[in-house]
Amino acid sequence: MNQITHWIGGEPVTGKPERTGPVFNPSTGEQSGEVAMATPDTVDLAVRSAKSAFETWRDSALTRRQNIMFAFREIVAARREEMARVLSEEHGKTFDDALGEVQRGLEVVEFACNIAHLLKGEYSEQVSTNVDTYTIRQPLGVVAGITPFNFPAMVPMWMYPIAIACGNTFVLKPSEKDPSTSTLAAKWLQEAGLPDGVFNVVHGDKVAVDSILDHPDVAAISFVGSTPIARYIYERGTSNGKRVQALGGAKNHMVVLPDADMDLAADSAVSAGYGSAGERCMAISVVTTVGDAADRLIPKIRERIGQLKVGPSLEEGSEMGPLVTADHKARVSGYVDAGEREGASLVEDGRDFAVEGHEKGFFFGPTLFDNVSPEMSIYKDEIFGPVLSVVRTEHYEDAIKMINDNPYGNGTAVFTNDGGTARKFQNEIQVGMVGINVPIPVPLAFYSFGGWKNSIFGTHAIYGPEGVHFYTKPKVVISRWPDPIHRGVDLGFPQHGS
Ligand code: NAD
Repeated sequence: MNQITHWIGGEPVTGKPERTGPVFNPSTGEQSGEVAMATPDTVDLAVRSAKSAFETWRDSALTRRQNIMFAFREIVAARREEMARVLSEEHGKTFDDALGEVQRGLEVVEFACNIAHLLKGEYSEQVSTNVDTYTIRQPLGVVAGITPFNFPAMVPMWMYPIAIACGNTFVLKPSEKDPSTSTLAAKWLQEAGLPDGVFNVVHGDKVAVDSILDHPDVAAISFVGSTPIARYIYERGTSNGKRVQALGGAKNHMVVLPDADMDLAADSAVSAGYGSAGERCMAISVVTTVGDAADRLIPKIRERIGQLKVGPSLEEGSEMGPLVTADHKARVSGYVDAGEREGASLVEDGRDFAVEGHEKGFFFGPTLFDNVSPEMSIYKDEIFGPVLSVVRTEHYEDAIKMINDNPYGNGTAVFTNDGGTARKFQNEIQVGMVGINVPIPVPLAFYSFGGWKNSIFGTHAIYGPEGVHFYTKPKVVISRWPDPIHRGVDLGFPQHGS
């Protein structure tokens, strides 16, 4: 059994942990590992290690930080298959999808390789006679990341490359469901030349999270996970005086207009609805059709569902793997039961789906509901499984209103061939990331990622330029070097041009 331990001060923490949690291989349903669960003392050790490393790391040369990021980039790029395999085994997503995840994380590392440029301040000469003003951005200190199970490599990489490159030190608390990728990252960062203590990993659950939230030496917290926990992290973290960005859950709608390319829309709905078994915060979970679009779209979606290959994550040809745990599978199944009870039409039912030879795996087949309405729990709640709901509307305005009334606002998409209609959508929709004939509008690393409404708490989106702002505080300097003219004491506020 794989023993997964914390990584503090540049080495694994040895000794028997007080508490452990099970890690599963979702394709077989068997336990593959045991992860140590941090106590408040473990968190304190990690924070102290990060605090002590900050003393020197904050003053390290920008070029050195860049070189370390370049070296880390090379290591991850060369070993991406190793990282993808580890995460695929613990999460259950297919190997190809895992490779894509590593790639998207790597792009943030590449962005951080450019940190010298990104940290440039502004300079104004002669704001007053012989007086110059300039701004600099300084690191915050020890910052923490708390991350979800669904992107165990990428979401931490949304955070630590930028935080570290900005001169902070980092404590990561990854999901306890698939923790191994984070330890791998810690080893590779060390190999890239990162000084010990700059990046630490503590594994665990609420006990570890609460210790981070209450630790006086943690300056800022980046969180990605479900909405109730995001709200909790934001409230408790900010009430303890920390800077917090907390990204939450989602219910992403894809609007299909009657003039859309129905084959493109069907391909997109199936890819974005069932990719990674629906366990993506940007997954499409609601297809909102306008007019007669549903009658033409649904047969095409069903045709594609019939051809999907659901199988073990590492098996050649698998397009969709299992769900992450048995509990999660039971939860998703419960929603399908509820959808039937509440009167939606179950068109494809994945509840009894099994893979031969892997009967204990946490597989769930692609599921499709038609005639879903906004009062139903399958519409209201984030199911986070391969369950797609079609809601039929008569007019385009009804679809826009439905999305704007929804409490989540992570991603959305419109499928149409009419430019004016698409433009109206991008202008009126109350959602942070919008796709036009693109189902999953995840920005590349040189933009920032963030939803609206209950999909984010805090003012900063994550990675990209917003990441640099989140992990630094601005300082403005006004300087005058001695000159022959001494003006003497003047208690008045300086006046224009003086
Ligand atoms: P989760 O909220 O259950 O867990 C996220 C993190 O919080 C984990 O590290 C977990 O250990 C910790 N945690 C869980 N319960 C806690 C509690 N009671 N107190 C303190 N900490 C707690 O989320 P998950 O199931 O791991 O991930 C799926 C969720 O994440 C979905 O809702 C998905 O939409 C969301 N997500 C959002 C984004 C985004 O960018 N907005 C990206 C990925 C995932």
